[in-house]
Amino acid sequence: MEFKNLTIEEFKKLVLENDPRKVYEEYFNFLKKEDERIKGFLFFTEELAFKDIEDLKNKDKESPLWGVPIAIKDNILVKGVRCTAGSKILENYFAPYDATVIKKLKEKGVIIIGKTNLDEFAMGSSTENSAYFSTLNPFDETRVPGGSSGGSAAVVGGGLVPIALGSDTGGSIRQPASFCGVYGLKPTYSSVSRYGLIAMASSLDVIGPFARSLKDLKLIFRLIRGKDSKDSTTQDYKEIIKEVKKIGVPEEAFGLGVEDKVKEIFENFLNNLKNHYEIKKISLPSLPYALPTYQLVMTAEVSSNLARYDGIKYGFSYKTDNLLEKYLMSRELGFGDEVKRRILLGTFVLSHGYYEAYYLKAQKVRRFIFNDFQRAFKEVDLILMPTSPTLPFKLGEKTEDPLAMYLSDVFTVPVNLAYLPAISFNAGFSEVEGKKLPVGIQIIANLFEEETIFKFLENLGFN
Ligand code: GLN
Repeated sequence: MEFKNLTIEEFKKLVLENDPRKVYEEYFNFLKKEDERIKGFLFFTEELAFKDIEDLKNKDKESPLWGVPIAIKDNILVKGVRCTAGSKILENYFAPYDATVIKKLKEKGVIIIGKTNLDEFAMGSSTENSAYFSTLNPFDETRVPGGSSGGSAAVVGGGLVPIALGSDTGGSIRQPASFCGVYGLKPTYSSVSRYGLIAMASSLDVIGPFARSLKDLKLIFRLIRGKDSKDSTTQDYKEIIKEVKKIGVPEEAFGLGVEDKVKEIFENFLNNLKNHYEIKKISLPSLPYALPTYQLVMTAEVSSNLARYDGIKYGFSYKTDNLLEKYLMSRELGFGDEVKRRILLGTFVLSHGYYEAYYLKAQKVRRFIFNDFQRAFKEVDLILMPTSPTLPFKLGEKTEDPLAMYLSDVFTVPVNLAYLPAISFNAGFSEVEGKKLPVGIQIIANLFEEETIFKFLENLGFN
């Protein structure tokens, strides 16, 4: 059986026409062998998978996802399975329930095959902040797959699995999608339930899919979206399909450290659009302020969300009779450097005397960024920008310089701050040192207009 680069439809056919158990026995052998090269999986969930395969006979065979495998970022809870969030502090934490997105997938007969690597608590842009190991880029193993959902992007990009789930707080689906040559969707904030997602920054976090085809991406998004009584921020999803005529390109998208090779592919793509669409130069003057604003809002929420890891309620617990020492040492030994850095910053910006100057100010700038986008969407239907200012970078290249790492997110964080949906798709390849490296472009739409982006890409011939 051939498993590489299968789509949802092709995989379902394989399971329908063969003994599902046999298919998956062979498939797991394939996965383990292929993953040695890119290390996208933290662990496989074979036991659960075979149980769910047994159960397939009770599931609706008409479901397009019947018997189809998916990989899940290891910050999304799957009942009975470990969930580490890429951290030592949750090394032995077993999820007591299914996230809402997992429940929805299982109902349709999807088989969960494993949990994928990520930067610790989803904090990073390269997957090098994982407490376990680094994942490698499937197009060049000397480079990073992006992050924080690097594992999910790499296993889809490497052709191991048709679909995967990730989470996006500041770019963690789109940037690795760009680096691994696949589609990645960051849905509108509140359109997908966060119940069962390990919280990073709750006003920014959203779960979304990766796929190698637009059709597969759409299928997963349509299944996971919608109101959930377990996440009070969710809303009923109302599809909005607008006819696209005008496309906005922010002049800021050519500055802010964009590498020439990225610029070249972006400009080529825009040139090809010219015959069919009106391309308008727009200005989003708040764009350069998005990164510092994100750093304040995100770290504040991180420091508050991660207070729950106290060595008592969850995961790793330092052995001592002294309570204060238990708190301090569990966190000291359980968290990695990047997580500590963000907790410290977040505690600082929320502290007495600094709250108004930093946190409150950042909230105001966030509104300003939101308004900037809303103003732009009165003039244009979609906004295009590079997903990442750079090509996939080398392992170790930015680990010593957190600020350089944060700059990876310059085009993705504004979208989270403004609650908007965006897709990163592969727009071409750039050859470096004899390797073809993927370059992604980001399409941003107004709230709840995911379907407008899908339609736009389909009209361009993407499928
Ligand atoms: N790379 C960004 C960060 O380090 C985004 C992370 C994310 O979206 N989870 O914060």
